[in-house]
Amino acid sequence: MPHTGPHSGLHVGTLAGRTAVVTGSTSGIGLAVAEALAEAGADVVVNGLGSASEIEAARAAVARHGRRVIYDDANMLRPDAIAAMVARAEREFGSLDVLVNNAGIQHVAAVDDFPPDKWDAIIGINLTAPFHAIRAALPGMKRRKWGRIINICSVHALVASPMKSAYVAAKHGLAGLTKTVALETAETGVTCNAISPGWVLTPLAQAQIVALAKERGIAEPEAMRVLLEKQPTRRVVQPQEIGALAVYLAGPSAGGVTGANFSIDGGWTAQ
Ligand code: NAD
Repeated sequence: MPHTGPHSGLHVGTLAGRTAVVTGSTSGIGLAVAEALAEAGADVVVNGLGSASEIEAARAAVARHGRRVIYDDANMLRPDAIAAMVARAEREFGSLDVLVNNAGIQHVAAVDDFPPDKWDAIIGINLTAPFHAIRAALPGMKRRKWGRIINICSVHALVASPMKSAYVAAKHGLAGLTKTVALETAETGVTCNAISPGWVLTPLAQAQIVALAKERGIAEPEAMRVLLEKQPTRRVVQPQEIGALAVYLAGPSAGGVTGANFSIDGGWTAQ
């Protein structure tokens, strides 16, 4: 679902000459981050699943900012494909400077009813894939003494909700991985940080609204109000708000920021 919202224009040029991979950028938050990085001047590898027309729409949305854009179809469940995508970015762009681990999936069920294959897929895509991407990207970043790793976590990296055991476990794990990578790279010119959003209206969240509406026999706007009870601002976070923070973290002013986890959750975890 390409987003067509307005852009700030605030960061134009701050990432000129930089290159980025954004996993899961054919939709939602990843697409907004890919667009924001391109708007700020970065060449971008777009990645993710979708129909041919969805992929082309996402690629075109990022390409309209005038930077080089490559689409790579690496499946985040395949370590070899993840490594090949990183190698391709380095080969075709000459470097990989910014890695955004964003691809993610969700499944909602009680832990004693949780399908093991869904558990494996959530841990695989939301946690193990970032490990493989970081592992592949770090040698080049260290060699060039410059790199930015941004892991899209969640409020569920900091607090739990019922019915989301795999997702909460994966996101807590990703928050921990962020800190370890930050410490290991602290003297190398590479930074590693996390962004932890609350509710953002994307297909991932929409599916949960539809499911809740069905479960309770209520309309979807009412289901959305129920979900937003945890988010004190009572409004969803905009994907572009996450894109703007990613541009800051990828940019020249954020060299001293590492091992941090930034909440953009409308006050959820302040409670
Ligand atoms: P989304 O469903 O809109 O996008 C998910 C992206 O991941 C898509 O591009 C999809 O194709 C890609 N993807 C899924 N499985 C993949 C695979 N096997 N290989 C490659 N790509 C794959 O969801 P979103 O809401 O934009 O989620 C993006 C990230 O933000 C996720 O990590 C999610 O956990 C996190 N997040 C979302 C919310 C929210 O409310 N939407 C809140 C907090 C965190």
